[in-house]
Amino acid sequence: HQVLHGNESGSSSSKNSSLPSILLAGPSGAGKTALLTLFEKRAGRSTSTSTDEKTEPAKTHTSQTPVSIKLNAAAPFSSSSSSSSSVSSPSENQPKRNFLLIDTPGHPKLRSTALSHLLPLDPKTGRPLPPSKSQPIKGVIFLLDASTLSPSSPDSSLSQAATYLYDLLLSLQHRYSRYTKGSKHPPSIPVLIAANKLDLFTALPATLVKKELEAELGRIRVSRSKGLLDSGVKEDDVTAGEKEEGDDWLGEYGSERFEFRQMVEFDIEVEVMGGSVLGNGGEEEGPGCEGWWRWVVERV
Ligand code: GDP
Repeated sequence: HQVLHGNESGSSSSKNSSLPSILLAGPSGAGKTALLTLFEKRAGRSTSTSTDEKTEPAKTHTSQTPVSIKLNAAAPFSSSSSSSSSVSSPSENQPKRNFLLIDTPGHPKLRSTALSHLLPLDPKTGRPLPPSKSQPIKGVIFLLDASTLSPSSPDSSLSQAATYLYDLLLSLQHRYSRYTKGSKHPPSIPVLIAANKLDLFTALPATLVKKELEAELGRIRVSRSKGLLDSGVKEDDVTAGEKEEGDDWLGEYGSERFEFRQMVEFDIEVEVMGGSVLGNGGEEEGPGCEGWWRWVVERV
């Protein structure tokens, strides 16, 4: 399969760099590497030849370089884990609908990698750069582990996941409001919150995942507006210097409760959908991740 490392996808192959892209983000342990490997197995036989053939499966990566794989949106996708052999590679006469899935590290110190795709900063001045036209991001999958999300679970991942999600949505909100050209905003980037590991009995269903995240994002919003930067990645010094009042406020300014639909004001569509990378309705229980794939295919 083809694994493209960070800059290589941009510099060594101009063909790849202009492909529509989906960004895969989320905290460590959410299942990003597992999802990448599964999508690649199902739809990763790209029509073009690879220059960087590697045979080992994708490993969780901690490096700062994002890993991209080339997928084909026209590839048939089967929800059943046992029928992977019947899933064929896209044939020659299928329309070429190649796109890139860009995996990003989930470690808190490396999350700027994902955010810089959405809100690129000039490495010299630290000022925001216009969004890249050459590698259009068509959507973001924010993957999280729904089995540890309950606030009452002893090792709840809610606060960690919500902090990352807050920064990600805020980057998109800034992207919308800072890059206006006349009255024109940059193309919108929809977000899929993929609640993973629904095969596990401790997992919250998508409706509850949404509720818990909205409540937690609301709490973060209040604490940040009070200047209590107790959590999350600290913003770059230079951009911090340019901050205006309300800049850190996610969603409708001054509203009491945070709701995802407030993001529509900034042209950001947010959807929460449950699924599981493991357990695709075969012997293992689990809804699979066909729904996520469909979401992707509709957007690239
Ligand atoms: P990453 O850090 O986001 O790349 O997460 P990984 O892909 O390394 O996955 C972390 C762990 O979660 C691994 O042990 C996976 O096998 C496991 N995992 C991923 N998806 C699922 C799922 O849908 N169900 C269950 N039960 N485990 C999963």
